[in-house]
Amino acid sequence: MINSVRQSLPKWPEIIWISSKRKDLPKILGINPWVYDFAAYNFWARPVGLISCLMKFKEIGCDVALLDCMIRMWRDVPWTQDRRYGLSAYPRTEIPKPYILKEVPRNFARYGLLFEAVKGALERMEEPDYVFLSTVMTYWYPGLVTMIQLLRKIFKRTKIVVGGIYPTLCEKHAENLLEADLIIKGPLEKKDNWDKLMKFMGLSYKMPDFRLSFCFYPYTSYAVIMGSRGCPFNCEYCASRRLFPGFYQRPLDIIWEEFYLEYERGIRDFAFYDDALLFNVEKWFVGFLERVIKNNVEVRFHCPNGLHIRYLDKEICKLMKRAGFKTIRLGLETANFQSRRDRKLTKEQWDIGVKNLLDAGFDKQDIGVYILFGLPYQTDDEIVDTIEFVKSYGFRPHLAYYTPIPGSKLYEQAKEVSNYPIDEDPICQNNAIWPCYPGGFSWEKRSYFRQLIHS
Ligand code: SF4
Repeated sequence: MINSVRQSLPKWPEIIWISSKRKDLPKILGINPWVYDFAAYNFWARPVGLISCLMKFKEIGCDVALLDCMIRMWRDVPWTQDRRYGLSAYPRTEIPKPYILKEVPRNFARYGLLFEAVKGALERMEEPDYVFLSTVMTYWYPGLVTMIQLLRKIFKRTKIVVGGIYPTLCEKHAENLLEADLIIKGPLEKKDNWDKLMKFMGLSYKMPDFRLSFCFYPYTSYAVIMGSRGCPFNCEYCASRRLFPGFYQRPLDIIWEEFYLEYERGIRDFAFYDDALLFNVEKWFVGFLERVIKNNVEVRFHCPNGLHIRYLDKEICKLMKRAGFKTIRLGLETANFQSRRDRKLTKEQWDIGVKNLLDAGFDKQDIGVYILFGLPYQTDDEIVDTIEFVKSYGFRPHLAYYTPIPGSKLYEQAKEVSNYPIDEDPICQNNAIWPCYPGGFSWEKRSYFRQLIHS
C-alpha cells in the first residue's frame, strides 16, 4: 500500500545535491544498491559506511549526493506504508532465483525502489565524476552487479568505486566479478585505503574524521547513532575484527552534536549501531544519556544490535529507561552456558542483567532476546532449550539466523558442514537458506520453531 505523500520529498527524478560550489573538485554520487534476497526487513537500516565516506568528501568541498535504493527517495514513487518507530517494509519485486539456489523452497526478490524509477533518475541526471557504491551483506552482491551494469550503460566517463563488507570479506570474488574502477577492501579510515583513494582521484587531502549525518536524505523517519567503531570482543561466529580492526569510542560532544542536529530536523526515532554499546560506558554513553534527560529530549531509542547483558548494571538500566529506550535486544545467543562459542556471558550475569532491566521499569514485552540458529554442529535441542529458557523469563525469543562469515573462526566448520559451496559463491552465505542447518531451509521446520516461540 502506498503511503500518504511526504511533502518534504522531492518529485521523481530529482536527486538532492549538497553543493559547495567548488568547481575544481569532483562531483560524487553515493549509491546504496537494491537488496536481492529471499527476505529483507528494515530494522533501522542505513548505509553508515557510505554516508560517512560521503561526509568526508563533503568536508573536503566536493559536491555530494546519495541515491539510496532502500529508502523512499521520491514522493511520487511507490513505497510501503509506515509502521511503528519510523520503520516500513521494503517494496518487493519478485525475480527468478539464482540458479545455484534453485532448490531453495522460497521466492527470491529485489527489495527497494522500483528498478525503472532508479534507472530513469540516473538517465536524467548530470553525469557525476565518481559513483561510490557500498555493500552490506556478502550475499547481496547481485544488487551491486546489477547497479554497476546499469551505471556502465548510462554513464560513459564516470569512475566507479566499490567498498563495504562484500569486497572486504570476499576479495577475490569481488575482484573477479565487479567491473569497478577501484575496489576498496576494509574501512576507509585505514590510512592505506584513504591514500589509495586519494591517488586514484588525483587528490591529496588529509583524511577528515569519521562523521555521521543524514543531511543527504530530504526525509528520513529515523536516524542512526554510532558512538564507537569496531568491537573489543572476538566471537567465533563474527568477523567484526576483520571489518574494523581495533575498537575506538568517539568524543561525546561530536556524537551529541550529530544526534541533536537530527532531533532538530524532527527525527524522533534513533537506533544505536554500536557493536559494543555498553562497553566502557563512561567514555560517552552515560554522558549522552544524561544530556538527553537533562535537556528533556523526548525521543525513542532502539538497539537493533544485541546488547551485552553482562554490562547491564542498575545505573545504566535506569538511565536507559529514563532517556527513552523502547526497543531492547539482548545478545543471549544460547542458553547452553557451559559450551558457548563466545565469552560474552555467564548464567549469573544473565540473571543480574535481566533483573536490572526489569527493576528499572522495562516491560517484558519491550525485551527481545537473540538466539543464534543454524550454527555448524548445533542441535535442534539446543535451540529448543534456549527458546524455552527465554520464554521462562517472559521475554520474546528472536531467532538470529546464522550467516557464515569469511574470516570468522567458525567459517572453517561452516564450510565443512554446509551443502552449499559457501566459499566459492558468497550468494550461498545467505542466512535465509539456512546454509549450515542440516537439510537447509524448510517451511516445516520454520513453522515448528515459530510455533514454539509463539505458543
Ligand atoms: S558478535 Fe557482537 S560482541 Fe561478538 S565480536 Fe561480533 S560484534 Fe563483537
